[in-house]
Amino acid sequence: MKRFNWIHKEISNLKASGFFTTIRTLSSPQGAWLEVDGKKVLNFCSNNYLGFANHPHLVEAAIKAIEDYGVGPAAVRTIAGTMDIHNQLEQRIAAFKKAEAAITFQSGFAANLATIQALVGKEDIIFSDELNHASIIDGCRLSGARIIRYNHCDANHLELAIKEHEGEYKRALIVTDGVFSMDGDIAPLDQLQEIAHAYDILLMVDDAHGEGVLGKGGRGIVDHFNLHGKVDIEVGTFSKAFGVIGGIVAGNAVVVDWLTQRGRPFLFSSAMTPPDVAACIAAIDLLEESTTFVDLLWENGGYFKNAMKASGFNIGHSETPITPIMLGEAPVAQAFSKALFENGIFATPIGYPTVPQGKARIRVMISAAHSKGDLDTGIAMFKKVGKELDII
Ligand code: PMP
Repeated sequence: MKRFNWIHKEISNLKASGFFTTIRTLSSPQGAWLEVDGKKVLNFCSNNYLGFANHPHLVEAAIKAIEDYGVGPAAVRTIAGTMDIHNQLEQRIAAFKKAEAAITFQSGFAANLATIQALVGKEDIIFSDELNHASIIDGCRLSGARIIRYNHCDANHLELAIKEHEGEYKRALIVTDGVFSMDGDIAPLDQLQEIAHAYDILLMVDDAHGEGVLGKGGRGIVDHFNLHGKVDIEVGTFSKAFGVIGGIVAGNAVVVDWLTQRGRPFLFSSAMTPPDVAACIAAIDLLEESTTFVDLLWENGGYFKNAMKASGFNIGHSETPITPIMLGEAPVAQAFSKALFENGIFATPIGYPTVPQGKARIRVMISAAHSKGDLDTGIAMFKKVGKELDII
C-alpha cells in the first residue's frame, strides 16, 4: 500500500546503515543470568541494579496486592484510581528520601513530561544540560518554553546563559539528569543548586539512575550531595534499581500539590497498578532495612571497572556502577556485542543517535545480583573478544 512506502524506505535505510535496532526476547525473569532468544546468557545490560526485579519479597508483596486489590486501578488518580496503597507509597518514598512530599506517576518518562509542562510555558525559559534524557527533552518541547542548552555538567556555562537571558522570561527552570546513563557521570548538583538559589530559579533533577544507587542506602542524588530541602524537584523512577515500574516526583510540597492539579499524565492516564505499588513499597522495606544491596552494587561496580581498565579497555569517566566500554564506531560495537553473545554474554551495543558519532560503546550495567564468579566470567569474555577484534 502506497501510504506505507515511506516507512518501508526509512526502515531499509536504517538497516542498510546499521542503525536498525534488533530486539532480543527474554523468556526468563530478570537476574544475573537470563534466557534470551532461547539461550542462557550472562546479563550485562539490564537496569536491575539491586536484583529487585525478581526478589521474593517484592514478588510476594505483588501477589498479595493482587489478592487484596486486583490487577488494575481502573481509573486515573483524580477520579477513582487512588487507593490507600498509592498514598502509602508516596508517604514512604518521601520519608525514605527525606523530602517534604512525593507524588507517583506511571513511569519516569511520564513524571518528566508532567512536571516540566506543569511548571513552565510559552513565556518562560528552560536551562537544560545538553546531554539530558529524551523524556526531559520531550517534556521541555511540550511545555512550549524556550529551551537554552548549556554545556554538559558545566555550571559556569549555565550561569553565563542565565545572565545572558536575564529579563527575557517570566519564569525559569534549570533541569538536569542526575546520573547520565550513557557515561555514568554525575551532575554537579551542589553547584547547580547554588546558582538556582542565587537567581531564584526552579531546579529539577532527574535521578532515574541514582534512585536506589546514590546516597545513603540508595536515597538518591539529593542525599548524595546532602541537599535535602534545597532541590525543588527530584524526579525518579521505580523501573531501575527498584526493579518495578513507575515514576516519582519528590521535593517541595507545594510543587507536589500543583502536580496533582496540573500534571497531565496524573490527570489523564490511569494510576500505577496495585501489584506495582505494593512491590515498590516492598523495595523501600528492603532498602530501609539494610544497605547490603547498595553496598554490593558499588563493590561489584568497582571490581568490574578495575579489571576492565587493567585489561586495557577504555571505560570512559563513569562515577557510578554504569561502565561504558568505549569502542568508537557503531559497527565495531555491534560486532563486539554479537561476538559476546556467541560467547554467552548479553551486553547490547549503543551507537548514534543515542550517543554521539564515533562514541559507540557497549554499556555494561553491573548489578548486586552478579556474583564475583559472574563478573570474572564476563571479564574473561570481554578480554577474549577484545583481543579477537584487536581492541586490546
Ligand atoms: N530519565 C532517565 C535519565 C532515564 O534513563 C529513563 C529510563 N531510560 C527515564 C527517565 C524513564 O524512566 P521510565 O523507564 O521509568 O519511564
